[in-house]
Amino acid sequence: MVLAMSSALALATQASLVAAQRPMPGYSPGAADTQRRLEQEAIQGPQATRARTHSAALSQEPHIAGTPAQKRTADYVIAQMKAMGLQTEMRSYDVYLPHATGVKITRMGRDTVSLDVQEPGIPGDPVTMMPQYLPVNGYGAAGVGEGELVFVNFGLIEDYATLDSTGVSVKGKVVLARYGRSFRGIKSREAEKRGAVALLIYTDPLDDGFVQGDVYPEGPMRPLAGLQRGSVFNGTGDPLTPGYASTPGAPRLKPEDTAVPKVPVVPISALNAQQLLAQVRGTDIPRSWQGGMPIRYHVGPGPVRVRVEVTTDEATAGTKTIYNTLGYLRGSTYPNEYVYIGAHRDSWGAGAADNISGTVSVLEAAQSLADLAKRGERPKRTIVFATWDAEEWGLVGSTEYVEDDSLRLKAGAVAYLNQDVSAQGMQFGGGGSPSMRAVLRDVTKLVQDPRGRGTVYDTWRVGTGTRADSLEPPMGDPGGGSDFAGFYNHFGIPIADWGFGGPSGIYHSAYDTFAWMERFGDPGFQYHAAAARIGAATLLRLANAQVLPYDYAEFARTMTRYVAPVERGLTQKGWSPAAVAPLSAAITRLERVATTFAAARDAALAAGVAPAAQAAANQSLLRVERSLARPTGLKSRPWYRSLIYASDVDNGYSTMSFPGVNESIRYGTEAETVAEINDLATRFGAAADAVAAAQAALSTPTKR
Ligand SMILES: [Zn+2]
Repeated sequence: MVLAMSSALALATQASLVAAQRPMPGYSPGAADTQRRLEQEAIQGPQATRARTHSAALSQEPHIAGTPAQKRTADYVIAQMKAMGLQTEMRSYDVYLPHATGVKITRMGRDTVSLDVQEPGIPGDPVTMMPQYLPVNGYGAAGVGEGELVFVNFGLIEDYATLDSTGVSVKGKVVLARYGRSFRGIKSREAEKRGAVALLIYTDPLDDGFVQGDVYPEGPMRPLAGLQRGSVFNGTGDPLTPGYASTPGAPRLKPEDTAVPKVPVVPISALNAQQLLAQVRGTDIPRSWQGGMPIRYHVGPGPVRVRVEVTTDEATAGTKTIYNTLGYLRGSTYPNEYVYIGAHRDSWGAGAADNISGTVSVLEAAQSLADLAKRGERPKRTIVFATWDAEEWGLVGSTEYVEDDSLRLKAGAVAYLNQDVSAQGMQFGGGGSPSMRAVLRDVTKLVQDPRGRGTVYDTWRVGTGTRADSLEPPMGDPGGGSDFAGFYNHFGIPIADWGFGGPSGIYHSAYDTFAWMERFGDPGFQYHAAAARIGAATLLRLANAQVLPYDYAEFARTMTRYVAPVERGLTQKGWSPAAVAPLSAAITRLERVATTFAAARDAALAAGVAPAAQAAANQSLLRVERSLARPTGLKSRPWYRSLIYASDVDNGYSTMSFPGVNESIRYGTEAETVAEINDLATRFGAAADAVAAAQAALSTPTKR
């Protein structure tokens, strides 16, 4: 998965007035000088040529989670990290992961046609000629569904409302939906809820096919016969062990008692979709439902009948072993505080972009910092370089890991940096917790854009049309959908992520290959290296800080912007908007406390502050965002504990801020909503208390 971070509103934070000699938050002036030198060295480490070699090796064959090929990528990463001199660990879990063994789609009737569902190989791109994972959605059910076809546009809740208004039901029907606007798991959930017997999801050429540009191999966009695989599971982690790790002997649910779909869900190409849709008649479509194929779309039902048959290995091999890899660079001063960087290593095909690019970024950042350590520059905190398995099935590897290592993470994880599709173009994008944005922005000012047009920060501003000096480029919010979820949404550990994007229509297809990457995505592998440079410097910034450089003033200012929509939501329901007052007050207090803290921190560091006081302050700072995660989670999804961001439960791709409050406005009563607002206000109070405690620790008189 990748479309995790929905684009946020443009952030109107104040830009630093002086970029060149700005202070380095969390560092004394003397320590900042040393750190600047170290970061410059770390930035020099990643190499495009080595990145290219890693990419070629790791994307030489399709490597779906649970296959021997995917185990080989784990072995490769472990061998590389051992050679760097890192301490390594392979962490495996046995999880529910049924693989498709057969898929057949038949257009029934006088001219019965069995569709050719495979993506054709492309001469000149050898990986596309290899056997691919069958075109079946991950966790779609085995079985047979047959019925008249109904076209449901994107398959959103509002699309079904439109169908209802015209009297069209999908009960007992085979549903054809188009990709986009929502996570495919939601499309599957909504179709099944309404009684569909099977779901086909196709990619319309309007979205990332010939309507957008030349198609592969002539261009980077999706060929008509290309299709998008992907999971349709709406949970996170092994479906059989919700909330705890899939360790040997752990109790397992029965698959039929989980939220995995009960009907077959199959991705098809636009070519196949056209073969089916061309003969559908019945109700005329709403104007906006017409896509980019050269036929008039109709809703149906029928007269086309379709039969969908899927078989899996569930009965004989439904459980498979997945492999996370961990590489450790032990901290010299605070070995029990951890800065993580991670990328999922599994794919739906060869996955050069999604996500060998992220894996390579982690490898190159590791190489750079391991080399620094060999020269005697060991980080103060422990750095963990992770690659995760089975992300594509529902963040399975990273989720089992965070559940397994929960005590260590809750006590000592400083931050998690995520790399998911870190290089498939030239346009930088970044996001994460608002507490981490200042650090990420600052590091992008240190790394040159490979095009030679200034720093990554400069081209980021240009690419996002950020002109006014008072504005910063917009950054994404962590709603879920990639491996940061276990850290952020589950535990409230600050996260950041970034990558370079561009025109691409190979998402989750057989055409996400090394050849595509060399031709279109990142021909010189310079952007792979640039992503790794940002990773290396950000890791060092966090690992060596005297006082952890979270920016809770920017965090609080960002939170302030989410209050007015809550007020509007209350008003629209006819409820009292005055209920937000405690929340507003708590956020305002956090901003005030955090602003005072930042000044006190800088003064203390300039004057000198004892290591014990720094350590005590850091312990308090670790509590701030964890205070905003509720142990019982959201009412809709207990695993999602962060009350700051979650994926929209009815969309999956868009992010909801204050999800406890906003879900209550949408689905709950006024009393429940007021309780949610007050709970959130109390937690913001605890967060502010933690910042105040950090300040108190720094101002405790100590011998220097
Ligand atoms: Zn991905």
